[in-house]
Amino acid sequence: RVLVGTRVAEGHENFVIAYNMLTGIRVGVSRCNAKVDRPLTDEDFEARHKFSFDITGNELTPSAKYDFKFKDYAPWVFRHLRQLFRLDPADYLVSLTGKYILSQLGSPGKSGSFFYFSRDYRFIIKTIHHSEHKFLRRILKDYYNHVKNNPDTLISQFYGLHRVKAPYGRKIHFVVMNNLFPPHRDIHQTFDLKGSTIGRDFREEDLAKNPRATLKDLNWIRRDMHLSLGPTKGELFLRQVKTDVDLLSRLNIMDYSLLIGIHDLTRGNKDHILDNSLSVFHPESPAVEQSTQLQRVPSSRADNAKAASALRKVVRKAGPVRIGKTVGEDGLPNSESSERKSFVFYADDGGCRATNESNEPGDVIYYLGIIDLLTKYDKIKKMEHFWKGLSNAKSQISAVPPPEYAQRFFKFISAIVKTPERLMRERRGLGDK
Ligand code: ATP
Ligand code: CA
Ligand code: CA
Repeated sequence: RVLVGTRVAEGHENFVIAYNMLTGIRVGVSRCNAKVDRPLTDEDFEARHKFSFDITGNELTPSAKYDFKFKDYAPWVFRHLRQLFRLDPADYLVSLTGKYILSQLGSPGKSGSFFYFSRDYRFIIKTIHHSEHKFLRRILKDYYNHVKNNPDTLISQFYGLHRVKAPYGRKIHFVVMNNLFPPHRDIHQTFDLKGSTIGRDFREEDLAKNPRATLKDLNWIRRDMHLSLGPTKGELFLRQVKTDVDLLSRLNIMDYSLLIGIHDLTRGNKDHILDNSLSVFHPESPAVEQSTQLQRVPSSRADNAKAASALRKVVRKAGPVRIGKTVGEDGLPNSESSERKSFVFYADDGGCRATNESNEPGDVIYYLGIIDLLTKYDKIKKMEHFWKGLSNAKSQISAVPPPEYAQRFFKFISAIVKTPERLMRERRGLGDK
């Protein structure tokens, strides 16, 4: 998949779905945020709120362009999660729903999920299977506690869990989560690593056609890549990966990966489709198809500022909400970088700057996270394990039981954090004794 989407605007085949998703979020989230904050209760984890939208509207729901039903799951839990992730409530709504525009990322992979970016590229909407939806609800409390106890966790940040249904349409479940990659920087290389080698190869021949393709474990090994994080950050990183992976294993999750985006500071942003001072992304441009020539995008800050102030008014009017951040000089809500500054692995321009063995900064920024957390090791995976196991080395296939998966994953990540220098030093250390 390529990280450049197709604009989903009026007329696009998925525009109605996108519109319904965003309208539901806007109403659901501002309703919840309008209330005075309170501690979570056990019921909050089970809660679901139903909204019925129609063209005429009524006292409970405002009118909408289309008829549809929307369900908001555990709204209070997600409100608190967004707080833990330091999202400003008004920003969240403006970024996501300010203009009813999303970009659709490629076509769904083998899982069938669709990915949409918010217009400013900060948030991703991923449609998920009903079983993934049920699973997230089941583990929500563990997930919440983990995030609370591990501010520097690397696992996906979930901001909302919802469902839309158009008349006669099917139910579409989706999550809102963080985009690990920054709007304003080129990602020169992307890797999706699982610690398994079977089938984990992107055909090198196809790379010329598709230079932004996501590469996999074997491509990483072939390039002899390392994560240069220096001793201090490296140790913090591994400790956090271990803690995160322990949780995933305990919850019987597998098939997740470490997503790594690499921005090379010496190359800068010259391949970027954006003017690097902008945060408003391609939605403002004519639909940017994967293969068409990339173009620069004109600013629409005035629009953005207008939308921001309008929404702030709505949110403010709706009740006592803390609106912590101000609108910056450029008219854009300016919390994007400040919210991330407080998290170790997202503090350097939204990512994690490489450091050498003396903890001095290097010339790449890594954008890192553990993604695709909603696959439970169930019957299907057990079957896959059985069939694939007949022909392949059993420990190398993707579908192994969660504790094995976690162990193999962690082993792989630990190995790539070891730079040649560190290995040499360790070997020398051994030789001295
Ligand atoms: P499958 O189950 O077949 O692996 P999926 O539909 O569940 O696929 P993911 O594995 O979640 O999809 O993601 C597919 C790709 O989308 C990733 O390899 C990555 O390139 C991109 N992606 C997913 N989540 C994020 C994120 N949070 N930030 C940036 N990119 C992401
Ligand atoms: Ca995946
Ligand atoms: Ca998946």
